[in-house]
Amino acid sequence: MSDKYKGKITIILQAISIIPLLLFGIILMLLASHQFTKAMYGQVEEELRNVAHNLETMFELIYPGDYKLVGDDDYRLYKGKADITFDYSLIDRVKEDTGLEITLFYRTTRILTTFYNSSNNRIAGTTAPEAVIKDVFEGDKACFYTDTIINGSDYFSYYIPLHDSEGNITGMLFVGKPSRNVNEAIQQSIYPLIIADILVMLIIAMGIFYYTKRFSATLLKIHGFLSDVSTGNLGTCLDDSVLKRNDELGDIGRSALSMQRSLRHMVEQDALTELFNRRYANRMLMQILDKAAKQQQPFSLAIGDIDFFKRVNDTYGHECGDVVLKRVADMMREHMESLGFAARWGGEEFLLVFDHMNACDAFESLRYLLEGIRSLEVAYHGETIRITMTFGLADGDSADIQQLLKTADGKLYRGKSNGRNQIVL
Ligand code: GH3
Ligand code: MG
Ligand code: MG
Repeated sequence: MSDKYKGKITIILQAISIIPLLLFGIILMLLASHQFTKAMYGQVEEELRNVAHNLETMFELIYPGDYKLVGDDDYRLYKGKADITFDYSLIDRVKEDTGLEITLFYRTTRILTTFYNSSNNRIAGTTAPEAVIKDVFEGDKACFYTDTIINGSDYFSYYIPLHDSEGNITGMLFVGKPSRNVNEAIQQSIYPLIIADILVMLIIAMGIFYYTKRFSATLLKIHGFLSDVSTGNLGTCLDDSVLKRNDELGDIGRSALSMQRSLRHMVEQDALTELFNRRYANRMLMQILDKAAKQQQPFSLAIGDIDFFKRVNDTYGHECGDVVLKRVADMMREHMESLGFAARWGGEEFLLVFDHMNACDAFESLRYLLEGIRSLEVAYHGETIRITMTFGLADGDSADIQQLLKTADGKLYRGKSNGRNQIVL
């Protein structure tokens, strides 16, 4: 397979599965973070609202009456009859219990607060942020803010307006929580979620990666096999892992293999007798000769021809001749199974190659075969046809195939002219 195409399908498959997976994972992560943050903000708002209203009620219960600022220069804040200007006991206790910052405004000015400046003094006398004055004091409604800067730090804050007995706004109550605390809590909860999300994506991506790698490796194996077959290498093998696959690729592999087998049959076998054909027999012969020369082992070959075969055709018809040829071929295949191979050399001529056998041993083997042929009775449309054969046998002592074949052929014709139905050694 050319490098240009190597892995192209893998890359495309990985891209179309991993990119959407990544996008999905990121969107899921963002959505989850957003929803979680929203839920946390809602929780903080509720907590601040409850504390603010409880505190308002506590002030009412402990110091019944309206808020009132008294004095010209040295202002004092009264609630009912009590001077609460420096009475931090309630707000300090609530801060201690809840960890929340608290400020009581008279109109828009901080009077009682849990905030301290850098000189360690409470930041009383300062004014509420402009937006708060507008929304809460002027708008007369409770408000929740997620980013109020007080004393240089960020707070989640909840402001409620305070009213006198006639319903007029006299001040505000602030309850706040440091943003840092909330954000840390959000991060602590979201980080495991993000890690789990990344882990799941990683596992799925690895699965996709592994599957596509295997997929393209199988494709490469099938392609390699088909390339071999297309260049005429019909002996090539297809990897077992492809044939074991229980999917479409396995099917393609199995089809490729059966195509190879069919081609092999067409190229190597004779259609009528299913013996090897002359071309393939020549190739096999060359291999056997090579091997015998290298390993110094004997071999021999014979050419056999059916006697008076023309008469069979003439008497019983060509079709009958075919039946006889098939029966003789079957007998030869069976006989040569463990000895070498048999091939159809021409019309009613056969080549028998005895691997690992010298001519003397082959002669004995051939005698046995010829006996079988002589006693073969081919039944055809009520007739019984019997035949004989003549063989020319050559010892594989020459490295020249053509010479060996010529020798065998010469002996065959000697046998023919010598009365047929015999083996000539
Ligand atoms: P000999 O003993 O001298 O070999 O005589 P023969 O009749 O066998 O030889 P000859 O060469 O005269 O005839 C061979 C015949 O074999 C002629 C041909 O029609 C026949 N033949 C060749 N191939 C086939 C085949 O595939 N099918 C059939 N039915 N006949 C075939
Ligand atoms: Mg003949
Ligand atoms: Mg002949």
